Amino acid sequence: MTKTERTYLDWNATAPLLAAAREAVIAALDTVGNPSSVHGEGRALRMLVEAARRDVAALVNTAPAHVIFTSGATEAANLVLTPDYRMGRTPLAVGHLYVSEIEHPAVREGGRFQRENVTTVPVTRAGVVDLEALETLLQNHDKAKGLPMVAIMLANNETGIVQPVKAAAEIVRRHGGLLVVDAVQAVGRMPVDIEALDADFLIVSSHKLGGPKGAGALVTRGEVLMPAPLIRGGGQEKGHRSGTENPAALAGFAAAARAATDDMVERNARITGLRDALEAGMRLAANDVIIHGADGERVANTSFFSLPGLKSETGQIAFDLEGIALSAGSACSSGKVGQSHVLTAMGFDAALGGLRVSLGPGSAQADVDRFLAAFSRVVSRRRVTGNAA
Ligand code: PLP
Repeated sequence: MTKTERTYLDWNATAPLLAAAREAVIAALDTVGNPSSVHGEGRALRMLVEAARRDVAALVNTAPAHVIFTSGATEAANLVLTPDYRMGRTPLAVGHLYVSEIEHPAVREGGRFQRENVTTVPVTRAGVVDLEALETLLQNHDKAKGLPMVAIMLANNETGIVQPVKAAAEIVRRHGGLLVVDAVQAVGRMPVDIEALDADFLIVSSHKLGGPKGAGALVTRGEVLMPAPLIRGGGQEKGHRSGTENPAALAGFAAAARAATDDMVERNARITGLRDALEAGMRLAANDVIIHGADGERVANTSFFSLPGLKSETGQIAFDLEGIALSAGSACSSGKVGQSHVLTAMGFDAALGGLRVSLGPGSAQADVDRFLAAFSRVVSRRRVTGNAA
């Protein structure tokens, strides 16, 4: 292996830009006009934005009118997580937010709710939301303060574990609440249908699908129940999100959304095969490796593992030096590797580090082979020194 050769195994952090998305971005960048202008140039851009809306709607099986474009999943989360709602013209108060303990920080931070109005819902040792605990929390919810809102992701970004969203929806409905589902890591990896999930809102992001960064959407169930806008101004996105649309980012997002739904079953079967080979190889090289969620339902591409005696940070650096880009699962924007809040929520010792390998449509057996060769070297160094560095 040459020094510069790199193996990218961090698709959950971001997917490489797809060629089709790149082409769509460049073509849109070179098209003059503002989608809100009434002249021909503006109308051409409007058509492009509306075509993108259709593609993103198809990704989650809804009507284009239910898609509100945002600058990404984080903004979509901050738009939807608010106590301030309207049902038609009537204000509607949401009194309290219940978020699963394993949510991405974009959701776990609680958006526009006051801290004291946010409660976390625990997960089981298997890494799935504890539905009994959710039931109890909603039973004790004080409706006088407003409706309960529950946020549960569909697939966890660190472990890939699929959450029991449909069962959670039944509980939320029984208690007259609203359900927000972060589907960022699920789209393209499993069928995602807002109706079938019985969610009120879904959150999606472009760059996890091979689209450009800085584009995402909040998907609604209808247009009656809507959150107060986060960004006010010129009234774009029917007043739900002001600011001139970014047609280039949306065209790229749309191309990635189309690719995500094409051949999904075959693509994920191939990726599952790669992950199975990777996990079998890890078990052969280190019989004490812990693969989180391996016995439950996971999306095809993610493997989150711990090697006793290997800290996340040390492991991540060791793999990076081997030419492998993987993640500790919880890198913050500062680049520091923190303790995985997901492993802590699952009841593991805070000292146990986790490392995440995430594959994608561009991954190949050669990537798995290179990872496993590096894995063996990291494991042998760990045995000698008790640590990998
Ligand atoms: N939700 C999940 C599950 C994620 O994995 C991410 C990205 O890491 C986000 C939300 C935030 O997405 P964005 O980068 O589009 O703001």
